[in-house]
Amino acid sequence: MTDAVVVGSGPNGLAAALTLAAAGLGVTVLEASDTIGGGTRSGELTLPGLVHDHCSALHPLAVDTPFSRSFDLGGAGLTWRWAPVEYAHPLDGGRGAAVRRSVEDTAAGLGEDARAWRRVFGPLTERFDAITEDFLRPMLHVPRHPLALGRFGAYSMLPASLLARRWSTPEGRALFAGITAHAFRPFDTPASSAIGLALGVAAHRYGWPAAEGGSAAIARAMAELLAGYGAKIETGVTVRSLAEVGNADVVMLDVAPAAAADIVGDRMPARIARALRRFRHGPAAFKVEFAVEGGVPWTHADSRLAGTVHVGGSFEEIADAEREVRRGRMPENPFVLVGQQYLADPSRSAGDVHPLYAYAHVPAGWAGDATEAIERQIERFAPGFRDRILARHVTSPAAMEAYNPNYVAGDIVTGANDALQLVFRPRVALDPYTVGVDGVYLCSAATPPGAGAHGMCGYNAARSALARLAR
Ligand SMILES: Cc1cc2nc3c(=O)[nH]c(=O)nc-3n(C[C@H](O)[C@H](O)[C@H](O)COP(=O)(O)OP(=O)(O)OC[C@H]3O[C@@H](n4cnc5c(N)ncnc54)[C@H](O)[C@@H]3O)c2cc1C
Repeated sequence: MTDAVVVGSGPNGLAAALTLAAAGLGVTVLEASDTIGGGTRSGELTLPGLVHDHCSALHPLAVDTPFSRSFDLGGAGLTWRWAPVEYAHPLDGGRGAAVRRSVEDTAAGLGEDARAWRRVFGPLTERFDAITEDFLRPMLHVPRHPLALGRFGAYSMLPASLLARRWSTPEGRALFAGITAHAFRPFDTPASSAIGLALGVAAHRYGWPAAEGGSAAIARAMAELLAGYGAKIETGVTVRSLAEVGNADVVMLDVAPAAAADIVGDRMPARIARALRRFRHGPAAFKVEFAVEGGVPWTHADSRLAGTVHVGGSFEEIADAEREVRRGRMPENPFVLVGQQYLADPSRSAGDVHPLYAYAHVPAGWAGDATEAIERQIERFAPGFRDRILARHVTSPAAMEAYNPNYVAGDIVTGANDALQLVFRPRVALDPYTVGVDGVYLCSAATPPGAGAHGMCGYNAARSALARLAR
């Protein structure tokens, strides 16, 4: 039997393992932590009975992919749940804007910007299935849907500050700022529209769902399917060199690029090792989980219904904050992403006490404490929030990296989303999953299509390995 070892049990490691196991390989997954799942773990962090997502929270790009279509994760216990509003953006004075699944319903709330929202998101939403077929793969391929991809690509390559000129109201511009900020990029840099645009279109096509019971349900479902194929998972095993994985025919590394160079060591061609060590990481997240009695008293009504709330004020304020972070300076008023997954999945709350998820964008490796800034930003749009906090759990950038070495200096998306790395990651190569050693592959979020708990990096890497085995 052909054997495979997968190092790391994040969603990409597990997706690679499943793809290989389904093809008949004997698979063992080795995980450093005591629990599987990498960025999809969840559990109690504040008060008994409250389920918090340790990392990934909402999953627009995991719902319908070649990977999710290949494996019955639903049958293995994964259920997606949607909040009434996908994402919202409060502004001062109780104003704000919200995105609902339907482009029309969203546009209807945007006044003068209704037409621009429809024109950008309408056609892309209609063609998003075709678009994802291309962008969920490495960029160097002949597109299957060149026309659909062309329009998406043309918008994506723009700096967000340029694409934002399509909207003229503070509400329309703020909505676009919120999704753009997910890229952790200054808004005036090339291709800074790409990630936000994809997430924005995905909100209309698939919504931004949470996993019932917590994001750990994603990893649990994959592990259950793996068990059905007879695959083994060992936890508490940190792999430091290839020698530790025996004579496996295929080795999948669900690790950061520099860690892959360390593990493969001298067997890796020097030029590839150099390229992987030069892989650029992005800024960091400083995360605080709250236990909140009665939920957040947002003055903007739709924010009280949204799975995600983008906090930071106007487009200009968020653009300034993101620029500061990229320069290595902590902004006074950082961008804060707030997750209210309990609105989609009430099973995570204990009565009227709810788990609230929040992280601020901070410079890479920042050693300060952003708790006060996060609370101040939320309080600005939800007076009385502080009085409802019953407990907190704080994760600094250093703690994030200690929790999972793939989040280098707190970079939760495993790699800067600059224009070059959006297209070529982790290095410029025809097959970006290979590392120059027969049978060894990189399959983490540092490879295409990048961050997210969608498993597509692992799926693609495993298919690359299977294609080579077939040859
Ligand atoms: C705070 C935060 C919020 C996020 N929010 C979202 C979100 O809302 N939606 C979304 O889709 N994504 C989100 N993400 C991103 C998403 O979680 C990651 O992109 C995804 O988990 C990457 O999967 P992966 O398999 O590549 O790596 P990871 O999930 O990082 O898993 C890597 C695994 O490998 C293990 N490992 C590493 N080195 C070794 C070694 N040497 N030996 C053995 N095991 C090793 C680690 O312990 C870990 O379990 C978030 C991430 C964070 C941290």
